[in-house]
Amino acid sequence: MTPVTPIGGPTPLLELSNVSKEFAVHDAGKRATLSAVNQVSLSVKPGTTMGVVGESGCGKSTLARLIVGLHGMTGGEMSFDGAPLPKSGKRPAHVVKQMQMVFQDPSSALNPRATVGESIGFPLSVQGASRKVIAQRVTQVINDVGLPANYAGNYPHQLSGGQRQRVNIARALALQPKLIVLDEAVSALDKSIQAQVLNLLKDLQEEYKLTYVFISHDLNVVEYMSDEVTVMYLGQVVERSPADRLYENPQHPYSRLLLSSIPSLNPAESTRDTAMDQGSGEIPSPINPPSGCRFRTRCPFAMEICATESPQQVHAEPGHAVACHLFEEGVPQEVSLARSA
Ligand code: SF4
Repeated sequence: MTPVTPIGGPTPLLELSNVSKEFAVHDAGKRATLSAVNQVSLSVKPGTTMGVVGESGCGKSTLARLIVGLHGMTGGEMSFDGAPLPKSGKRPAHVVKQMQMVFQDPSSALNPRATVGESIGFPLSVQGASRKVIAQRVTQVINDVGLPANYAGNYPHQLSGGQRQRVNIARALALQPKLIVLDEAVSALDKSIQAQVLNLLKDLQEEYKLTYVFISHDLNVVEYMSDEVTVMYLGQVVERSPADRLYENPQHPYSRLLLSSIPSLNPAESTRDTAMDQGSGEIPSPINPPSGCRFRTRCPFAMEICATESPQQVHAEPGHAVACHLFEEGVPQEVSLARSA
């Protein structure tokens, strides 16, 4: 098997190597371990967007929290801007400042008793900025996210959902971060507002030279936003590729299942992959995931080896990594799929 190396280019801003997160839980009255994120490796180059996509329960949000340090790692290593990060506990102040997060629910992410200006200025005051600097910066970022300056005195309940999410983005920008993790950041918004916020994020990325980790269950918005995409299933990375290659030529059976479910804008046109129609069904519990390949209980191509050996990532093509036994060295994908279908 070919070892997977990062796609060429500048040094990554963020690198994860075999990062895992397990939670101790109670299941049917017994102690159990929930494997939320399992040996995830990815690298994000500065100024780019890494999309992370998968169904609900695939570990995307846990991964987001691991990246910004809201969860400690159970295993693996993470580095930011070339320096290793601690597995758990407090991170250096400059890292906290340079890595921000925008959450899904724009309402619960804001203090209802704080004005917009106070919410945006809070992280600056924690960092010890003067009142003058805070006021200048609040005015600047409110303008940058397209809100009128007088909104600084408004409370969250006086704003629409889209305006509240703009405030959350402004708060993330206040500390001039290098990386923003966007966890389902537009999922709670109406479609027309979604488009405005996505375009705002693209404009801000260019203006601030930002790097994004963009997490969503919505394949269309991930395609629109991302330079590279990581597909997750039940806590693991199953495919990683430049966005255009993934959407043109998905390789992993799970990616094909996901992409076949994108509704076509043309009602006369079916985008479904009939071989993958068999691959429907419920995502198994991360408390007791299937042995070998975690996707095997839903995979129409499953083989004997899939029940006993966890597939390693290999290159399906340059820069396009896939974790599936069908792609073992020397077995062309077309032959493998034909043999197994
Ligand atoms: Fe399917 Fe086996 Fe590939 Fe898993 S490793 S996706 S079960 S063919």
